[in-house]
Amino acid sequence: MPTHEVFNQVPPLVGTDISTHAALIEGLHREGAGWAEAEVRELGALGNGAHFQEAGRLANDHPPVLCTHDRYGNRVDEVEYLPQYHELVRTAVEHGLHGAPWTDERPGAHVARAAKVVSWGVADAGHLCPISMTYAVVPALRTTPELSAQYEPLLTNREYDFGLRAPLSKRGLIAGMSMTEKQGGSDVRANTTRAVPTGDGTFRLTGHKWFTSAPMSDLFLTLAQAPGGLSCFLVPRVLPDGTRNAFFLQRLKDKLGNKSNASSEVEYDGAFGWLVGPEGRGVPTIIEMVNMTRLDCALMAAGGMRIGTAQAVHHATHRSAFGKALIDQPAMANVLADLAIDSEAATTVVMRIAGAVDRAARGDEAEKAFRRVALSVTKYWLCKRLASHTVEALECLGGNGYVEDSGMPRLYREAPLISIWEGSGNVAALDTLRAMAKEPEAIDAFFAELDRAAGVDARYDDALALLRKELTDLDQLPLRARRLTERMALLLQGSLLLRDGDPAVADAFVRSRLAGDWGVAYGTLPAGVDTAAILERARVGQ
Ligand SMILES: Cc1cc2nc3c(=O)[nH]c(=O)nc-3n(C[C@H](O)[C@H](O)[C@H](O)COP(=O)(O)OP(=O)(O)OC[C@H]3O[C@@H](n4cnc5c(N)ncnc54)[C@H](O)[C@@H]3O)c2cc1C
Repeated sequence: MPTHEVFNQVPPLVGTDISTHAALIEGLHREGAGWAEAEVRELGALGNGAHFQEAGRLANDHPPVLCTHDRYGNRVDEVEYLPQYHELVRTAVEHGLHGAPWTDERPGAHVARAAKVVSWGVADAGHLCPISMTYAVVPALRTTPELSAQYEPLLTNREYDFGLRAPLSKRGLIAGMSMTEKQGGSDVRANTTRAVPTGDGTFRLTGHKWFTSAPMSDLFLTLAQAPGGLSCFLVPRVLPDGTRNAFFLQRLKDKLGNKSNASSEVEYDGAFGWLVGPEGRGVPTIIEMVNMTRLDCALMAAGGMRIGTAQAVHHATHRSAFGKALIDQPAMANVLADLAIDSEAATTVVMRIAGAVDRAARGDEAEKAFRRVALSVTKYWLCKRLASHTVEALECLGGNGYVEDSGMPRLYREAPLISIWEGSGNVAALDTLRAMAKEPEAIDAFFAELDRAAGVDARYDDALALLRKELTDLDQLPLRARRLTERMALLLQGSLLLRDGDPAVADAFVRSRLAGDWGVAYGTLPAGVDTAAILERARVGQ
């Protein structure tokens, strides 16, 4: 006789496409990449399929290992990954997540890639770090045409060719970024790594980097102090003659989450590098890369919110308490709908910004200006929002959500990271103020986008007028940086939802996030919000 019968546990979600949802597909079509729908769906199904869910779990449960020396005592500075990690990277590369848009003439190529990052991200977040950096390195490299002519074809090739060999002898390359030093990551101008010219146009770099992720990458954009000031360099792991560059891995970080991705400390001991961009212009050069990795942070936040929402809705659909499915209980419906609203808003805005990135890459100056402020506020707000969103989604699964098997703890540990990357909260908010002060055309383009929804909803119009008024007050701006950035981000989301979003979602968003009829925790939507319509859209498999 069994001691007990298992019942009222939810069916597995693995095997269901949870990341490809209505807001993502609608955004894909709206921003000109409807042609990629089949592949976006394919990646969503693959990413949440049994095979890649297991690969993601294993790659996180067995983090990469650093091997500094071989058996004879020679330095090797290699990182050993599980085969599952390589399989994740290979699949991402084969689907062009690392760089395909740079060689794809079709309008919407960056939008297609953005949607694929969201749909595939359900497999594992950690491996997206090198994928993102490889995508992002291309615009920075293009500041130096002779380097981009050599390396761009390999950085964009859909072949993952792992291993430390001379870059030009490989069939595909992965790139990283090495900026942060012990004394500071936000304030990169405090870098002390020195770059000495050799006389033949190359430089030798000596110093340390406190965080360098994916250290088995082939090429790193690295900041160092050259005689002409802080400059950007392309540093290969292996020199053109096949010998190792003087790039020594000291340790791997023991991190809260993001376990499948190795993040290292590096010593450069006269490492060889090529100058990228003009000497003394290292920050503007590497910012070309950071702009793209910021887009990916926002995409990962939207993806994370969708996974959390889908897990929570699925659980509440199949779990009963007090005689009724959780989803049918009003207090739970309020929490789930509140989570779904942020997920919809996040997806809608990232797809709009991906559209701007795409059009900017094809020479559209107005979209480039819009992207400048829109990406800054959105990166700040979505990454900030993700952590509290994930905590609440986890709680919807009750005690099961706190247990590793559910996958929620991994999501939870991952959540704070993207808010630290590429401009931590305050730095991202202050960057918005800087963009507004230095690039008036960017703020004009941003407000032009907000104005497109003027007159649609009086509550939105009031919130927009209030933001304009707040921005005319120049007193204590840094102190108000987060407050202003948050309002700008919410208005951008509101503008997009009112024009293109689901009416029930848009109404609830404006009422709660813009008109203030809301509490501090999730689940505080006012009575009268159409939670049933919102949850119908959030249902898994939509
Ligand atoms: C897992 C992981 C992987 C990473 N991978 C890489 C990598 O591959 N390459 C790389 O270069 N770096 C990498 N980093 C480093 C990361 O980019 C930095 O940690 C980040 O930029 C913040 O820098 P910091 O840690 O030195 O914090 P600090 O710069 O010391 O900032 C600390 C806090 O102060 C705030 N702050 C800073 N300036 C101001 C200000 N003026 N006003 C108000 N508040 C301020 C920040 O927002 C932050 O909250 C990685 C970090 C992690 C955790």
